[in-house]
Amino acid sequence: MAYDVIVIGAGPAGASAALFTSKAGKKTLVIDNDQSVTKRAWIENHYGVAEISGPDLVEIGKKQAAKFGTEFVQGKATGLSSVEAGFQVTTENGTYEGTHVILATGLSVELAEASGIQTKPGTEPRIKTVVDADAQGNTSLKGVWAAGTIAGVSMHTIVTAGDGAKVAINVISELNGTRYVDHDVLKS
Ligand SMILES: Cc1cc2nc3c(=O)[nH]c(=O)nc-3n(C[C@H](O)[C@H](O)[C@H](O)COP(=O)(O)OP(=O)(O)OC[C@H]3O[C@@H](n4cnc5c(N)ncnc54)[C@H](O)[C@@H]3O)c2cc1C
Repeated sequence: MAYDVIVIGAGPAGASAALFTSKAGKKTLVIDNDQSVTKRAWIENHYGVAEISGPDLVEIGKKQAAKFGTEFVQGKATGLSSVEAGFQVTTENGTYEGTHVILATGLSVELAEASGIQTKPGTEPRIKTVVDADAQGNTSLKGVWAAGTIAGVSMHTIVTAGDGAKVAINVISELNGTRYVDHDVLKS
């Protein structure tokens, strides 16, 4: 079964991206191996949220994406290769095909490097290597995008979640052929 979007990583960047793509009606799969560093955080600097534990933020984010139809698979993505209709992602438990792939793997560039995607030195504290993504999130492999810590943005939940949303909006816009906006209006 082919997906419109396969997101690898279910931290703030990945789950936020999946929330947007699935809410836009794009068939979305998230593959995650439960190694989010966010699960070690206590957060008091996320706009609109007075305080929250990292584990709660990650769980709520996944539930928000699931509400709009995102499917989740637990396991490590070990391979990413081009196929006729897009990309095939290999995991420990199976293979999945998607038109677009969003890498949101946090500190891990293992999959990106194994797939021949261009990387570069990181600029943020303690971040050695990141994917060489442009301002839209495009990587050196067209159709594969990067969001969050792996894309080199400042390592804060509001920034990585926002970056995931930004990249998702770019992916949705490319799939639709026109710029996308998601505005729900307050019911009076
Ligand atoms: C101790 C600590 C405290 C922090 N405190 C704060 C704070 O107070 N405020 C703040 O804003 N930020 C804080 N942060 C930073 C914040 O957690 C990160 O900036 C941000 O949430 C990272 O989001 P991400 O989605 O890029 O990465 P992550 O949350 O790390 O998510 C990456 C996901 O990708 C998955 N993954 C990786 N490789 C694969 C693969 N090959 N296959 C499948 N899945 C894969 C991982 O399992 C993980 O779930 C803290 C971080 C730490 C460690």
